[in-house]
Amino acid sequence: MTQPIARPIERVAVLGAGTMGAAIAAHVANAGLHALLLDIVPSEPSEAETRRGLTRDDRAVRDRPARDGLDRIAKLKPPSFVSAAARTRVEIGNFDDDLSRLAEVDWVVEAVVERLDIKRDLMARVEAAVRPGTLVTTNTSGLPIHQIVEGRSDDFRRHFFGTHFFNPPRYMKLLELIAGDDTDPAAFDAFAHFAASTLGKGVVRTKDTPNFIGNRILSVHGAEVMAYAIGEGYSFEEVDAVTGPLIGRPKTATFRLQDLVGIDVADGVARNLYDLIPDDDHRDALVDPAVAAIIGGLKARGWLGNKTKQGFYRKTKQRDAKGKPVFEVLQPETFDYAPATTPDLPSVAAVRKTRALGDRLRALFGPDFRDARGARLAWQAVARLLRYSAAVAPEIAHDLPSIDRAIRWGFSYEAGPFELWDALGVRATAERLRASDFAVAPWVEAMLAAGVESFYRRDDDGRVIGVYSWDAAAYVDLPRDPHAIDVASLVRDAHTVEANDSARLIDLGDDVLLLAFESKMNAIDLSISAMMSRAAERLRTEHWRALVIGNDGANFSVGANLNGFVQAFEAGDWSMLEDGCRQLQHALVALRRAPKPVVAAVHGMALGGGCEVALGVDRIVAASESYIGLVEVGVGVVPAGGGLLELVRRLLGASLAAAGAQPGAKGAPQVDPLPALQQILQLVGTAKVSGSAQEAHEMGFLTDEDRIVMNRDHLLHEAKREALHMAETYVADAPATLWAAGASVAAALQLGIWGMQQSGWATEHDAHIGRYLATVLAGGRAARGRWVDEEHFLRLERESLVALAQTAATQDRIRHMLTTGKPLRN
Ligand code: NAD
Repeated sequence: MTQPIARPIERVAVLGAGTMGAAIAAHVANAGLHALLLDIVPSEPSEAETRRGLTRDDRAVRDRPARDGLDRIAKLKPPSFVSAAARTRVEIGNFDDDLSRLAEVDWVVEAVVERLDIKRDLMARVEAAVRPGTLVTTNTSGLPIHQIVEGRSDDFRRHFFGTHFFNPPRYMKLLELIAGDDTDPAAFDAFAHFAASTLGKGVVRTKDTPNFIGNRILSVHGAEVMAYAIGEGYSFEEVDAVTGPLIGRPKTATFRLQDLVGIDVADGVARNLYDLIPDDDHRDALVDPAVAAIIGGLKARGWLGNKTKQGFYRKTKQRDAKGKPVFEVLQPETFDYAPATTPDLPSVAAVRKTRALGDRLRALFGPDFRDARGARLAWQAVARLLRYSAAVAPEIAHDLPSIDRAIRWGFSYEAGPFELWDALGVRATAERLRASDFAVAPWVEAMLAAGVESFYRRDDDGRVIGVYSWDAAAYVDLPRDPHAIDVASLVRDAHTVEANDSARLIDLGDDVLLLAFESKMNAIDLSISAMMSRAAERLRTEHWRALVIGNDGANFSVGANLNGFVQAFEAGDWSMLEDGCRQLQHALVALRRAPKPVVAAVHGMALGGGCEVALGVDRIVAASESYIGLVEVGVGVVPAGGGLLELVRRLLGASLAAAGAQPGAKGAPQVDPLPALQQILQLVGTAKVSGSAQEAHEMGFLTDEDRIVMNRDHLLHEAKREALHMAETYVADAPATLWAAGASVAAALQLGIWGMQQSGWATEHDAHIGRYLATVLAGGRAARGRWVDEEHFLRLERESLVALAQTAATQDRIRHMLTTGKPLRN
């Protein structure tokens, strides 16, 4: 009998608490689900356990491997958990006592050692425990999916497939899904949807071939680059200088990546893969003798990369003039280390500043640098990637975009191989490949012979409307994620309503307006404030039902544009600064008073002024990876875009409301305002930034009504949905009446600051800024507490900012931030 397939996934079991299992459990918990993390029972108690009188019968001993896995993952940097609360959603246990609890879960993900016999045996035990219809997946790196479920029932095999997470799963977007021979397509689809929306992953479906897509291509490719470069006598520094960001790849480039992954691990993967792909013409690179001699030498010495503090590179204790650690590099002839040098590669230096990857590479591969050493290596690396990707594509992938996405999402390349090939020109690059004696894959030759000039089909405006299929030998539609909205496409599709030099209003459809920042690093400036006022005006007077504020950049906004401050100091024009603050404050007030809801779609950094924009509007819909904070003290000022007002409204307001205080009523509320104000002082005075949206909620930046979205690509869609939902019943808040606690509370706050200064936690200038903060938070220095309006707090914010901006120490902080990008503690 066929069991129902698409049961909602709420409870998850993770089998194996190693590197991947523990990290997958953490990410499941990050997504708000409950995870049961199980591992083996140790064969005997440890010495410490025995000393404590424990035996193998004790739970503490039996659960130790799972507990150790959880403890280890909880200490990692960057953090695996999005918040302390997420950790409490992981429960531990062991395979012998708790396997029956698999009957409670909706999805079991197995992440035990990469051994077919072990995985297979475990699956038999899992089958005996789960309810029929439970999804069971394996996190193998490359074992054939169909072999892992040999001998299992039909129902089990229908609900079984591979889930290949990339490490660390919280941060790596790619999740490869591999259907087995008998996997039910509906169950597979339902899981793919869950993985994208609930876990926030970028899902790529692959064929069931060795190492799937990402690791197959880049293991062979990395080996080819090493073999070529070592054969041609390039130094490790040269290879890394050429095969990193210059050609659209991460800074770890080639040899630094080996050190990062672990030289033994990378070598194990390469050797394993070699055996699994006997028919692959390129596999010899995986066992190249010259490379093997170096890797073997490193392994023999136990120099396995970062985890042993040395490999191809070794970090010294010295620092260079910029304060960065000095590295030494391996000398492969002697296995000594010598100081790493910056390679002298004029071709690389000549093109480095060209921003667009395609332009940069076309320049590098052009006639100017035909015989240049750097350009030659760059061409070899790019050419080999294109050649190999095309050669294996039909064997490993269902379509072209899967390969491009796997390489971008799993390895942080700027462009996938076919996207890059398109950018370079397919025909011209194919000619050059042939001229370099690289065979071009038959399906690419056939495509060119049929007159098809690019892998992706674009319309006249550059919009991708199709993709070449090797099976159909023609363009086919490119399936779109209906939940992914990006600003660039909206702009290209002529949805702009109005724009200035820093911001744009865009029609998001369904009568929702989008305000997108477009300034450098999305810093808040006067043009952005002006556009927020324009948006408020349009909400008041036009048909729009709601406004979303969001953008495509790496960050929502890094804060106020500090150049405006410098202009003000240089001109000695303090009213200019005050006006700038007033414009931002009033634009946000206008948005909040507008008759339609305004939602901030926050992602990445939302700092300083960026945070104030988010706090100032009706609701926040935040990507899980949001780093939110009022960091103004780092540049010597206080938040003056309504940020302090907002925190007072939220945090003090909440404690007053909880105590039943009526804003505006006679007499002081029967509640001590100090704890809430101390919390704000602590947040702002120490420039605390959340490590995630969930943490921002714990810190008080997000309220219970605000929402968190796991998939960054779905953020604008979700923010729009939220805005439309709010629009159905929306009534703008009336201006708030706030409690100005007055001089005695300000004095109590200042006492805390004095204490920090005395114990060396705050510099004199920190304390000076802290006193201004305390005064604003207490609503001024009136002798007695009283109810005031919003403008009262906004005025205090502005006055404090202007007073601080006139101090030399603040001006030094601002200049230092502008020149170094780092805060100055003076
Ligand atoms: P690991 O060595 O860190 O952990 C292996 C786990 O298996 C441990 O919890 C261990 O206790 C358990 N185990 C050991 N012997 C066992 C047995 N006989 N029966 C049951 N469990 C046993 O390994 P890992 O890196 O977490 O890898 C786990 C799986 O994930 C492997 O299949 C691996 O190929 C795959 N994978 C790893 C990575 C990675 O970056 N590490 C990435 C993707 C996939």
